[in-house]
Amino acid sequence: MTAPRLEIDLAKVEQNARVLVDRLAPVGIGVTGVTKAALGSPGIGAAMLRGGVQGLGDARVPNLERLAGLDGSPSRTLIRSPMLSQAGQVVRTATTSLNTEAVVLTALDQAAARDRRVHDVLLMVELGDLREGIPLDDVSAAVRHVLRCDSLRLIGLGTNLACQNGVVPDDRNMAVLSGLVENLESLHGLVLGTVSGGNSANLEWALGTADVGRVNDLRIGEAILLGTEPSRRTPIAGLHTDAFVLHAEVIEVAEKPARPWGDRAQTAFGEAVARTGTGTVRQAIVALGRQDVDLDGLVAPEGIAILGMSSDHLVLDLGDRRTAIGEELAFGLGYGALVRAMTSPFVTPWPTP
Ligand SMILES: *Cc1c(COP(=O)(O)O)cnc(C)c1O
Repeated sequence: MTAPRLEIDLAKVEQNARVLVDRLAPVGIGVTGVTKAALGSPGIGAAMLRGGVQGLGDARVPNLERLAGLDGSPSRTLIRSPMLSQAGQVVRTATTSLNTEAVVLTALDQAAARDRRVHDVLLMVELGDLREGIPLDDVSAAVRHVLRCDSLRLIGLGTNLACQNGVVPDDRNMAVLSGLVENLESLHGLVLGTVSGGNSANLEWALGTADVGRVNDLRIGEAILLGTEPSRRTPIAGLHTDAFVLHAEVIEVAEKPARPWGDRAQTAFGEAVARTGTGTVRQAIVALGRQDVDLDGLVAPEGIAILGMSSDHLVLDLGDRRTAIGEELAFGLGYGALVRAMTSPFVTPWPTP
């Protein structure tokens, strides 16, 4: 079989989605399944839907296009603010988008009007992580702007924490969101039906708090795909952490000195790692490099240590493990590693998603 190969267990993705959907349902929160780390794979989107997510979300228009053919036409939310230049494609491809900019909203409205469609909009609110979001004081004006756009329908508010500055979702910032929803509803005489509180980093709060307030949606990618929560990168109890496994082939095995010799400067990718061992190391090279996967989040098989990786070579200390040339080794993936593997033209996803 071809290598490197990213083996995907769709049943595990489905089960992870179902576990999270079932845990969040009692507190009144539904799940939007986020496929962006999987290139908008329709197979993965379908697995999430079988697991009970209420719709799909992705950060990129081409990924949403891949999801457009799925049975039952699930809602497809563009979770990154649309590029102004893509307004036309966005209203054709996404049922819904998350927005912060008046000029983009106007363009979406015009594009939707041209196509005789109605495009659903959530306004994103800044709650401290300092990535996308309208400052609290300006949200009311943004609501008024959307209400004047005949081809846009304001369905709710959203926020995103954790991704940029690691700000943790908690009772304080989530209460600000719920309070804002209620203020805007009474001020403008409307109902904001969807309150999307955040991403996988919100799970701990959502499942632990005494009161989720008005939050009734979370946009979940990492926890479904990898079974981990992003704040501490720890496994979530009851979820599979091995739905994705990267298989790569051994191309050299040799007993080599534990320490390099000669004067040392930088390596292909920055500072050299200190090598402290003595004697020899049973070293293997795997045909896998930074063009295939990110070292951040790459997990070697039990008993094997990663010594370094350049564009095309992964160097391992095999320890006591026996391996032969041509043998495959299986690696676990964290978020960064998964994203790189999914987007690398050199890695074959299997089954083809
Ligand atoms: C990536 C992203 C998500 C999903 O994040 P996960 O940590 O994978 O759950 C949700 N919302 C927005 C706006 C995102 O960019």
